[in-house]
Amino acid sequence: MPILVMKFGGTSVATLDRIRRAAKRVGREVANGYDVIVIVSAMAGETNKLVGFVDETGPFFDAREYDAVVSSGENVTAGLMALTLQEMDVPARSWQGWQVPVETTSAHASARIDAIGTENILSKFGEGMKVAVVAGFQGVSPEGRITTLGRGGSDTTAVAFAAAFGAVRCDIYTDVDGVYTTDPRICGKARKLDRIAFEEMLELASLGAKVLQTRSVELAMRFKVRLRVLSSFDEFDENAGTLVCDEEDIVEKNAVAGVAYSRDEAKMTLLSVADRPGIAAAIFGPLAEAGVNVDMIVQNISEEGRTDMTFSCPTNQVVRAEKAMQGAKEAGEINYSELVADQDVCKVSIVGIGMRSHAGVASKMFSALRDENINIKVITTSEIKVSVLIDRKYMELAVQALHDTFGLERAG
Ligand code: ADP
Ligand code: ASP
Ligand code: MG
Repeated sequence: MPILVMKFGGTSVATLDRIRRAAKRVGREVANGYDVIVIVSAMAGETNKLVGFVDETGPFFDAREYDAVVSSGENVTAGLMALTLQEMDVPARSWQGWQVPVETTSAHASARIDAIGTENILSKFGEGMKVAVVAGFQGVSPEGRITTLGRGGSDTTAVAFAAAFGAVRCDIYTDVDGVYTTDPRICGKARKLDRIAFEEMLELASLGAKVLQTRSVELAMRFKVRLRVLSSFDEFDENAGTLVCDEEDIVEKNAVAGVAYSRDEAKMTLLSVADRPGIAAAIFGPLAEAGVNVDMIVQNISEEGRTDMTFSCPTNQVVRAEKAMQGAKEAGEINYSELVADQDVCKVSIVGIGMRSHAGVASKMFSALRDENINIKVITTSEIKVSVLIDRKYMELAVQALHDTFGLERAG
């Protein structure tokens, strides 16, 4: 039998009614002749609640126990989905990550999948089981401990299963009916895209569009998984949603495919560092060693041999960055007068493979922001994206202005 992977996100399994609704869709695919692997998230809000409990235990918790706690939300929905399917006379059973097994690295809270054992599930399919319901987001480390794949990780579980089992398609059911030109929750003019290229989706995801976890897009691209994003609330339609596909399969290419934003940014400025050869290495070496994910960097004009160095990093790494810089200062590797952390910033980005062949996209972006009187603090570019760091209070205005400027309300 051909295998189909169907993933249901938190809002799609938030109540028993919604689980029933999702189970009906699964039943329909079984009737269509598929063996189905269902990947479930925890009920909406559940993972946040569990993370909150762990945070309350203290600031320096054991990441292995964090994973033991936060992975549990998915166990509940996996069991409930299997029970619901059984009620509908669909032969189903649930699997936790370790039972499959989903083998991961031991990087707790952000583990990567190394391998998925297909034998257990395939032999159950062979015995007449129609649906394997798998708890998303979790796996097991080489040491035999429970791991999790980072927030939003059930998307990655789904794509990894589709790759491992050679599924015909991986359908990601969520609370929006596809991938939009930008987050429809903050821009009323956002348009659903019928198709988006892997590379664009990868950039959008890594720049903050949380509709798919970045790693899931990477895997889909690498293993050529047919990946579709669609709503679990709409009526069933074969062609619904957005297909994430190869660039060649997209006929119309706009310069800009979408706008992404991330609130999770902090701007760090080291004031008055010596402007000498090796200074960047002396700053960014210790930051890298401390595990700080530096994103954007600017070095200001130097005056009398001293300069300011600015970089951005995720807000939850500010303390780590401060510690690393303090350490480097005490070790005499760098010298600065002050380290200023600004957390009232956000990153807004435009993404599009069409940028490779269209000139002037960045300057059009900067003009649009100027027209709204939005000051740009830091800029980075790559071949298919331009990102700016701006004051957080202008985030929605910037997203909407860029959406208008690049005519995205006509996309789709
Ligand atoms: P799930 O719980 O199903 O995994 P998520 O909340 O992780 O759902 O992801 C879906 C959300 O992603 C949407 O509700 C939407 O607000 C947000 N989102 C951000 N950018 C986009 C985009 N470009 N297209 C669609 N949704 C987006
Ligand atoms: N429940 C996990 C989270 O909220 C994983 C997921 O839903 O993808 O991050
Ligand atoms: Mg998600």
